[in-house]
Amino acid sequence: MSVLVLNGCAVATVDPQRTEHASGHVIIDGSRITAVGAGPAPAGLPGARYTDAAGCLATPGLVNTHHHLYQWATRGQAVDATLFGWLTELYPVWAGIDEQIVQAAATAALAWLARTGCTTSMDHHYIFPRGGGDVLAATICAARDVGLRFHPTRGSMDLGKSSGGLPPDAVVEDCDEILAACAAAIERFHDPAPDSMLRIGISPCSPFSVTRELMTQAAALARARQVRLHTHLSETADEVTFCAERFGCSPVEYAESLGWLGADVWLAHAVHLDDADIARLAAAGTGVAHCPSSNARLGAGICRSRDLLDAGVSVGLGVDGAASNEASSLLGQARAAALFARAVGGPQAMTVRQALELATMGGARLLGRQADIGSLQPGKLADIALWRLDTLPHADIADPVAALVLGAPPPLELLLVGGEAVVRQDRVVTVDEQQVAEAARRASTALSGRR
Ligand code: ZN
Repeated sequence: MSVLVLNGCAVATVDPQRTEHASGHVIIDGSRITAVGAGPAPAGLPGARYTDAAGCLATPGLVNTHHHLYQWATRGQAVDATLFGWLTELYPVWAGIDEQIVQAAATAALAWLARTGCTTSMDHHYIFPRGGGDVLAATICAARDVGLRFHPTRGSMDLGKSSGGLPPDAVVEDCDEILAACAAAIERFHDPAPDSMLRIGISPCSPFSVTRELMTQAAALARARQVRLHTHLSETADEVTFCAERFGCSPVEYAESLGWLGADVWLAHAVHLDDADIARLAAAGTGVAHCPSSNARLGAGICRSRDLLDAGVSVGLGVDGAASNEASSLLGQARAAALFARAVGGPQAMTVRQALELATMGGARLLGRQADIGSLQPGKLADIALWRLDTLPHADIADPVAALVLGAPPPLELLLVGGEAVVRQDRVVTVDEQQVAEAARRASTALSGRR
């Protein structure tokens, strides 16, 4: 196994003691971290490659806990709409996706996530057009090509407009078909190993696009197969109204009534919560994927992140699909999470270090990977972002973590996933960025021609 030493960098470990080093080192042996410490690494380690990382900050690779990769092909549409208006405009466009379009879009979205410091991403794919081919496998191919650790979830919608749901009937599937496809995805792709590059989850889309029966049976299937559960919940005031009218309760109460609160569940958004909802999430150990940019882009509101953290709820960050967050930067979500929390609750509402924790350990907890990723500690997987902080926008900033969270997005000197380089000097090295961009452009053009 090859040994790599990052020497002379600032280090923010995000370990339980929140250890930081102004000048330190990280030693990587194969796919795992073997040492992290202050000052230079011991000289003369047998077979080691020493990298001068002076001027850089090493952090854990960022973890993205909510995304729809296919949406890369539909950026810049319905730009001033609310969620329901945006969905109503885009559902018919999305009905035209197929495996080629999804692979091109997902490769571009994942490559850009890598450029913004992300080493692990989930995907929530819930549109499976008949005749569109194997779109879930297309996202998995894309993740293998780019080299990110991947948690795709098999999403679904079975409540069409004719049954009182929001999506047109053309984009929903049958409940039994969905459950069979979820079971097949777990069988075919899920790897529970500690160093897994791919774990499957199950993710019916939302209360306004999924039946009660599908929610219940999906939870039973996930628990029988020991995979995690994910859905959108309490994203907008419109959804709260929908649940009150249709179910006579809040979205969180509805989820609880279906067995959808638990330590194996994480929810996207959770913007519109009352105190009792927050207490329910905390008691159940259910986590929240906070997506501040998407929520702001759609005018949905601001997640009560401070109150969730104070109640003991695990919170991670999600870029959400690129169609509701064109920037799609995970580092950008750390910045937005810090700023939005402060705009609501004052400058103490989220420290820059808490924002970094949400982006790393917070996300690792939501995905059930906290034993192996999310912090720089001996024994953990070598998923590491090395940010360059000695160029024009950052040189001489007093606090490197503040530079990362509050400053301009820094150049990414190196991104390692399991010790393998995915980004070097701000370029993705596993795929050709120009070819990926061109393929994504062709996919978007093809899709827009299908309306
Ligand atoms: Zn979403």
